[in-house]
Amino acid sequence: MTQPVLRIENLESYYGPIMAIRGVSLEVHEGQIVTVLGANGAGKTTLMKTISGVMDPEKGTVRLNGEEIQGLEPDAVVRKGVVHVPEGREIFPLLSVEDNLKMGAYTRPDREGIASDIDMVYSYFPILKERYKQDAGTLSGGQQQMLAIGRGLMARPKIMLFDEPSLGLSPLLVKEIFAIIRRLNRDQKVTMLLVEQNARIALDAAHYGYVLELGRIVMEGDAAKLAASRDIQEFYLGVR
Ligand code: ATP
Repeated sequence: MTQPVLRIENLESYYGPIMAIRGVSLEVHEGQIVTVLGANGAGKTTLMKTISGVMDPEKGTVRLNGEEIQGLEPDAVVRKGVVHVPEGREIFPLLSVEDNLKMGAYTRPDREGIASDIDMVYSYFPILKERYKQDAGTLSGGQQQMLAIGRGLMARPKIMLFDEPSLGLSPLLVKEIFAIIRRLNRDQKVTMLLVEQNARIALDAAHYGYVLELGRIVMEGDAAKLAASRDIQEFYLGVR
């Protein structure tokens, strides 16, 4: 197999004395959607923060196309092409929708493609086009999530990290957001790592999945195989 876009090996992260990530290894290959499933407190957010440079790991490596990036500052990680769409959106509330999108392109050396990428984002999220002048803080939760994804795309990332995109959204909006995530993966060839509590929707979208429990990977496999596994059905899909 080709070299993965993202390869994590034996990662350990701590909050003071508390070991939250306990030797995690995983891979994401080009063009894949890979999901990390886990209950509350499993370590999903900590894993994402460690990849994006918000937290430094105590041990282990994070490689992007073979190059070690663990321990870099978050800004440097973004410049390498790893873009994190955070839980809680974190858009710039006082900037317009369009200015938020432009901010997403700040790391790009090529200025020419920016206008056409804004159009590309609007084609996936027509509501953002309708509201392009509006302060982002006045958007609904779902629209802010769309803007956060759109802003991430503007960086032309090598990999996009999604932290619980379903969180706080209605079931209908969750469906809509995931349909767009799948289209972006298929049409724009965006490689994605997605952490989710909503196992059903995540396994539906993903090619491959890992299950995180108490900071450790306890299971992995093709998404369809995981969805068919008894343990996953019982513990994560609520099937008896
Ligand atoms: P959630 O879905 O609730 O966000 P999660 O899977 O993302 O859960 P993390 O937030 O990564 O889990 O937390 C992993 C472990 O680290 C948990 O045991 C949690 O209590 C602990 N933890 C998280 N943040 C801190 C912190 N700031 N200080 C100390 N311990 C923390």
